[in-house]
Amino acid sequence: MKIQRKPDWLKLRLSGTAQFASTRKLIAGYGLNTVCRSAQCPNLHECWSSGTATFLLLGNTCTRSCRFCAVGTKKDLPPPDPNEPENVAQAVRKMKLTHVVLTSVTRDDLSDFGSGAWAETIRKIRESNPDTTIECLIPDFRGNLDALDSVMQLRPEVLNHNVETVPSCYASVRPEAEYRQSLGVLRLAASTYGLQAKSGLMVGLGETPEEVYEVLDDLLAYGCRHITIGQYLQPSKHHYPVQRYVPPEEFDQYRTYALEKGCTTVQSGPYVRSSYHAAECVENKHNT
Ligand code: SF4
Ligand code: SF4
Repeated sequence: MKIQRKPDWLKLRLSGTAQFASTRKLIAGYGLNTVCRSAQCPNLHECWSSGTATFLLLGNTCTRSCRFCAVGTKKDLPPPDPNEPENVAQAVRKMKLTHVVLTSVTRDDLSDFGSGAWAETIRKIRESNPDTTIECLIPDFRGNLDALDSVMQLRPEVLNHNVETVPSCYASVRPEAEYRQSLGVLRLAASTYGLQAKSGLMVGLGETPEEVYEVLDDLLAYGCRHITIGQYLQPSKHHYPVQRYVPPEEFDQYRTYALEKGCTTVQSGPYVRSSYHAAECVENKHNT
């Protein structure tokens, strides 16, 4: 397949502020991982320069191997670091975060799928940062209800779970996950727990615009009111190739559609990622 050249609207803007350096130092000091780095997020300079980051729990190696993802894969992983929950809580305190986004690698090797570490991290953050709102960008925990319950019953302000792509692309880019199972996670959050449900997908993986609109309809039908849509960028030549660079106008059309259909917050643009400007979901929650 012919390699797609990056269009002008995807030229990366870099900046090296003092705040960027102090964010990097603080995260390294606590020995924490971030999805900003592990997933090679294009917004890293912007976010870290404004003093925010998204913490990656349970290590920086995943038991799954999605073909779009820069995170490394291994089936045999060490147990979770028992100090990680407290270290994350202290980093949140030092960074003075009013809203924190947590995510994790998928740990299909653990009997609780890592949900215990998730719950402990939420508790520790609340102990040290009672005014900080928490967004949990969780994996599917293989649809295990005990694991999902243990996180949702702690009532994070936002429960985020990405469908990542349209159903027809799952087999080629996300073969170890199921679209309907991901929708079920969102319905559990929105309907059973009454949480602010959020999800996101990448475009440029071979989907058609009609398929994107169908996913937006599905997300709304399952109770999701916060949506992110961003351009897929190939992390390396070994990853799934970009099929198309979606022009900014098309992102605008997706945003307009989702808002007209009843979404509260829609981030849609080439560089949008799940946790980009994440605090807006909490700021807008009273509008739902
Ligand atoms: Fe990190 Fe999210 Fe910002 Fe990317 S958008 S740099 S993952 S906080
Ligand atoms: Fe990356 Fe998540 Fe897939 Fe693991 S499950 S490879 S972290 S996208």
